[in-house]
Amino acid sequence: MKLKATTDDQALRATQVSPNDWICSSCGSVGEYRRIRPGSDVIELVLWLCGIVPGLIYSSWRNSKKTTACTHCAAMTMIAVGSPVGRELLARTSPNIQIVASAAPRQPQMTTGERVVAQAGRIAIWILIAMLAVPAIFSLLAAVVS
Ligand SMILES: [Zn+2]
Repeated sequence: MKLKATTDDQALRATQVSPNDWICSSCGSVGEYRRIRPGSDVIELVLWLCGIVPGLIYSSWRNSKKTTACTHCAAMTMIAVGSPVGRELLARTSPNIQIVASAAPRQPQMTTGERVVAQAGRIAIWILIAMLAVPAIFSLLAAVVS
């Protein structure tokens, strides 16, 4: 699997991790992970385009079932760095990385689907506002003219 340059740089420069960071028990990667959700990005997008309610229900279901996967090997075997097995694994695979309680945990990478859904959700809200505002403006104008 081809890795992004930024991911490599972050992994190489990291010398501190939070106990709430994730370590991959398959390949030993620390901190880099993404969310995997069941269902389909295409179905989610279509439902959002059909209306805000179906999209919201489907997205809520997908988000409630999401799991964590390794960015490097895609295995869903991420464990907390602060756990006993996580500490042992980190000491064995990355002895230069310290666990620091005050370190900020890394955020998951957003998938393309998540970015599209976030954008589609914003657009749907603006369409809804426009649908409410335009008739209100016209009825005000009608009341002023007559
Ligand atoms: Zn991995």
